Amino acid sequence: MNAYQKEQLKALQMVRQQLNELPDSELDALKGKIADYLEFRSQVAIFLETHFKDICMEKCYRSRLSACCSKDGIIAFFADVVINALTAENDELDRLEHAIQHPADEFKCIFLSETGCLWQVKPIVCEMFLCDEAENREFEGDPEAEKQWEAYKEIKKSFTWPDKPVLFEKLESFFMAKGCNSTLMYIHNSPGLLRIKKNRAK
Ligand code: SF4
Repeated sequence: MNAYQKEQLKALQMVRQQLNELPDSELDALKGKIADYLEFRSQVAIFLETHFKDICMEKCYRSRLSACCSKDGIIAFFADVVINALTAENDELDRLEHAIQHPADEFKCIFLSETGCLWQVKPIVCEMFLCDEAENREFEGDPEAEKQWEAYKEIKKSFTWPDKPVLFEKLESFFMAKGCNSTLMYIHNSPGLLRIKKNRAK
């Protein structure tokens, strides 16, 4: 396994172990914390299904190009791992672990299987990525849809962008308080995001 695979595997196993050890009350509280985010994600999923399914199917899926799912190119946040683990079944997480160690295609994202992405709630970076061609084709004739997409991008920030305490940071903090540490905890480790946090009070 390369360094990318190792850090993904370590984060996933760490999260699974911690979640297994949590009492039901804490597990329920965590699920409560992510409820609004999951609602947001289902709205985005419906929007993408409505506006981009045909384009993406034609451009990427049928051609097996899956251009967005490039090798080791995805920045998954620690919170992405937590949210997915809270929503997926054990066997689905087992498959994810297996894929990290034995990717189906050595030239593509390690999470891409024959049947598509193995995450139940895929990383936010993936969900909100639209290639220029897809955006241009869809939004050219539908400014309302473009406006809605911009609105979703703003809502995304309210969960992920640490100019104020956000869900993605709180989830990192929760696991850090349990003694966990991961290179995927970008909101606590990335110099750029730390700078944004530092400027909060100003
Ligand atoms: S995590 Fe899933 S959606 Fe994201 S790049 Fe990998 S296969 Fe594609």
